[in-house]
Amino acid sequence: MSRITAPFSPEQVDALNQFQLGVSWCSPGHPVLCPHWGGSEDALDDDAPAGARITHGEQGGPLGVLVATASGWQCPHCDHSQNWAYGFMAQLAPQAFADDSTASFAALALRTQGQITDRQALLERIDGAIGAYKELFVSRFVRENQSDQESEPISRATTVVPFMLASLRRRRMELMGVRCAAGQAPVTDESWTRLSDAKPGDSTSVEALYHDENITNPLHDGFGCNAWIEIRRFYLGRILTIGAMPTHWRELVRLVL
Ligand SMILES: [Zn+2]
Repeated sequence: MSRITAPFSPEQVDALNQFQLGVSWCSPGHPVLCPHWGGSEDALDDDAPAGARITHGEQGGPLGVLVATASGWQCPHCDHSQNWAYGFMAQLAPQAFADDSTASFAALALRTQGQITDRQALLERIDGAIGAYKELFVSRFVRENQSDQESEPISRATTVVPFMLASLRRRRMELMGVRCAAGQAPVTDESWTRLSDAKPGDSTSVEALYHDENITNPLHDGFGCNAWIEIRRFYLGRILTIGAMPTHWRELVRLVL
């Protein structure tokens, strides 16, 4: 099986992290795990940091899920790293597969009515994972600032987790019809209307797309994309909003149960 080695490109980092959480184009597959995650005593080698087993919490997936960064896999809970991955884990897009592959079938299914509940399930899984990794980030950030001495396993998470959060948020936006690449303005698909081109009807609730330059707080909804989506009401010729103005809007997609 072909392998890729670090440094990973930004696209590969995204694909690998999305694969880890079962939300990529080629998911599901078994995620790459940290050998110190605590499955057995034998899994701990001599240089495992003290307390490694108890610090491996369940964040967004099975215990010990590694996070892909530009320099390779890193464990957010200990100092384990790995510099290679199987190539299939980093498939960038459905078109990268042969036509008869599972992935292009999945992509085709995405465009059909029947798949909307699956898309919804995917969004829910992503949201759950984002919540879990935000929690991990906050808990480690607090511990880092309370701790007298710098502890590598603790500070690791605050460096590593933002990679996962950015990858998950970019996948989420992609499913919402907004493609985001690092350092570039978001690109919307045809489901979105530029607010300067047309306005929604009065008293309707819409999905509003916001864009802001250089969001550096990993806890911000726009981190990794510099864009985020909110549900807003359009009233008397304007979107009721506080702060930034949205750039695009689209009708709220209601799920038929
Ligand atoms: Zn670990």
